[in-house]
Amino acid sequence: MRKSKTWLWITLMVVVLGSFFWMRGVYGTARNFITTKPDPAPVTRLFPSPEETSYHMDLKIDPINLEIRGYSVITSRNTSGADLEELWLTTYPNALRDKTNTPAPASAYYSGFDPGWLMISGVMVNQSTASCHDLGISHRIDLPVPIAKGETVTIEMEWKARIPQVAYRYGSKDGVVLLGHFYPVLNVLDESGWHTSANTRFGDPFYTQSADYTVRLWVPEAYQVAASGEILSIEAMDNGWQNLSIKASKARDFALAVGYNCQVSSVTVDGVKVSGFFKGTYPAVENQVMDRAAAAVKYYSCTYGSYTRPQLVLVQAPMKGFQGMEYSGLIFLAEEVFAPEYDEQRRAFLVAHEVAHQWWYDMVGNNQLEEPWLDEGLANWSARQYLKTVEYRSPQSQSQLREINLQQGLTEMESKSNYLDTAYQGGENFWYQLEEELGEEKVLQVLRSYLAAYRFQTAKTEDLRQIISQQSRESLDSFFKRWFTTR
Ligand SMILES: [Zn+2]
Repeated sequence: MRKSKTWLWITLMVVVLGSFFWMRGVYGTARNFITTKPDPAPVTRLFPSPEETSYHMDLKIDPINLEIRGYSVITSRNTSGADLEELWLTTYPNALRDKTNTPAPASAYYSGFDPGWLMISGVMVNQSTASCHDLGISHRIDLPVPIAKGETVTIEMEWKARIPQVAYRYGSKDGVVLLGHFYPVLNVLDESGWHTSANTRFGDPFYTQSADYTVRLWVPEAYQVAASGEILSIEAMDNGWQNLSIKASKARDFALAVGYNCQVSSVTVDGVKVSGFFKGTYPAVENQVMDRAAAAVKYYSCTYGSYTRPQLVLVQAPMKGFQGMEYSGLIFLAEEVFAPEYDEQRRAFLVAHEVAHQWWYDMVGNNQLEEPWLDEGLANWSARQYLKTVEYRSPQSQSQLREINLQQGLTEMESKSNYLDTAYQGGENFWYQLEEELGEEKVLQVLRSYLAAYRFQTAKTEDLRQIISQQSRESLDSFFKRWFTTR
């Protein structure tokens, strides 16, 4: 009896101790998670911050040899909430490096395929040499020393780019060089990680934070310069070149057009200088485009909130694949838009749409890869509002106002027509239907609040939904569910 009791005790001890170690094995991870110091907090803040980021660029643009030599200094502060071990840049010219991947349509290559590219030859981060990896449309910088949260970061880069002979938003034709997204740009880091660009054949695969730009530019004296920013000075040099000093505050991007023999004209509306760099072939159309752009600036300023740049420049651009392209303070309009046979209604809409992007792209930015409907839908609806209110044109036919799933990223769309149907038409329909729910005045109030809350920042669909709910004093959940079905 005694012996069997001892064995019972031993068996019991084995079971208890075994269970204890087994439980430790199973729950060890969870116990550690609860009781030990947690991992560093996830990144919850945005980098680079628009308030604390500046680009200084020295650019030598050679429109004859189609080459850019650049020296960039990007200064920011690590506002990501965690230490940074790498930095990511978008280097868009590399999208046009290979014939098989170029986003430019075949019709844009007027003398056969011609590559465009950007090469970074040396990078210093906080005065230490850093290694930079060419991944095509992206470059990754591995930092020799991590940048602690809150620390200032200065990135110095020497780079060189080739301007391709292609009628595209980055390219050149007939003595005009178009430079959209031509320099290395810091990508955005948020709680979901780094947002890298993608090489898409349609749409705008960009997501950038606003920054302050100062640019020193060297170009041959015979060329005129249209720039995103204000040209502060032009100095002639003794070698036939000129040196320009340009400044752009809180710009989502910095774009340039350099042209030979352009006709430059301007009108001023409410203190904003609207300039045109046109060919001078159809002066009546050119004047009409200028006047309409000026009227649209005035209308959007009065309706949503002031235009904040001293100028807006329109460029008649040798560009295929797009009829218009928006940049901060600068708009490219395709040459064909100026032809007298071009549909007048379409031209009016296009100009109003591109000017509206100064509010819904430049001022309030968004991730154009993930939520392209935000800026395109609003630019479309705003253009219709302008045409209805200022030019007394009839609004869109109500029969087209069908619901479309707006929760589609650019890379999920299989064709350009799918992109146009979703981001442009679907986005526009969303605003028309919201107008039916809330009334026009409430919708305009929503947009005033949206601009006031996110001026020079970036907004997401969820941010907009909250503003709509606040203004309408109802959740509109079922309305949103109809437009945003989970992927
Ligand atoms: Zn657009």
